[in-house]
Amino acid sequence: MTFHRFQKSLLAAAIALAGFTAAPGLVLAQTAAPAAATAPAQAAKPHVVVLATGGTIAGAGASAANSATYTAAKVPVDKLLAGLPELANVARVSGEQVFQIASESFNNDNLLTLAKRVSQLAKQSDVDGIVITHGTDTLAETAYFLSLTVHTDKPIAVVGSMRPGTALSADGALNLLNAVSVAASKDAQGKGVLITMADQIQSARDTNKDINIATNAFQSQWGSLGMVVEGKNYWFRAPVKRHTNQSEFNIDGITSLPSVEIVYAYGNVQPTAVNALVNAGAKAIIHAGTGNGSVADRMVKPLQDAHAKGVVIVRAARVPYGFVLRNAEQPDDKYDWVVAHDMRPEKARILTMLALAKGADTKELQRMFWEY
Ligand code: ASP
Repeated sequence: MTFHRFQKSLLAAAIALAGFTAAPGLVLAQTAAPAAATAPAQAAKPHVVVLATGGTIAGAGASAANSATYTAAKVPVDKLLAGLPELANVARVSGEQVFQIASESFNNDNLLTLAKRVSQLAKQSDVDGIVITHGTDTLAETAYFLSLTVHTDKPIAVVGSMRPGTALSADGALNLLNAVSVAASKDAQGKGVLITMADQIQSARDTNKDINIATNAFQSQWGSLGMVVEGKNYWFRAPVKRHTNQSEFNIDGITSLPSVEIVYAYGNVQPTAVNALVNAGAKAIIHAGTGNGSVADRMVKPLQDAHAKGVVIVRAARVPYGFVLRNAEQPDDKYDWVVAHDMRPEKARILTMLALAKGADTKELQRMFWEY
């Protein structure tokens, strides 16, 4: 069995770290990537900073046959970069370990800390692009948050992997190389935050993790923006929604995010969760409705009561594709509810948090759902 250097590096790191428990706290450590090219040649290359947050791309399993059974967030960023000397051919790469967590454990503080760091780096004249390595579970939420809050034209690529680096046919090495190559490219500037997985270049806004066990996990109903192949980007579309430099949200002025929670709809759903969230002080409830964001008859009154107490109600859908039509399944104008357009409930939560943090009312929030 032959191993790529990336696999060997991760395997070595996994062995060294056996018994290591990932700490969810902030870890900021700077490291430089291996220099395969000469120093002057390196200095001429674009500078890309890799911000590592954990996930499967930093995961390690017990054997090469473990593609699905492994521990996420084990391998530190210096080991990830050291295992991939090909990076030096596309950019001058430095790494920072921001967190070391599985992305299902991301919270609002993580979003704020990460976005503030991305914003700081984007302002530095010696930084040309930024890559964020991230667990795939909530990668799309973080990428959307960054696309709404970081003001820059510099390329930002968010990347993960579906298999740990220790597995056969691990996808992390090529995904990371592609992410760095996209972040280093002038032609990726101004296209918003990008998700680079499985050779696709996708828009953070449109893309979600739709498959939980395949390397082409990230899909968008509106299609990819392009592909990255052997260090070259091939573009086919551009995003039309507001992002980064055109956004009215700015992470530099945001210090906290309000409680915006999600209620899932299903047959026999009862108002228990809505009532509990209102009592717990939720500022908005995203209702992940059936079909076109439908609301069960017994849920209408509890949601209206929540609204009467000042809780913003957003009608999203648990159906992954399509988009929720205003005033179709429910009289949104009459109830003063908002529809989430084509945003998944978890991404509707991101936009709603930012809107409420800015003091937006329901009319403003509805406008934002159309525009972002
Ligand atoms: N549960 C992992 C995470 O999100 C899955 C992955 O990274 O692919 O961190």
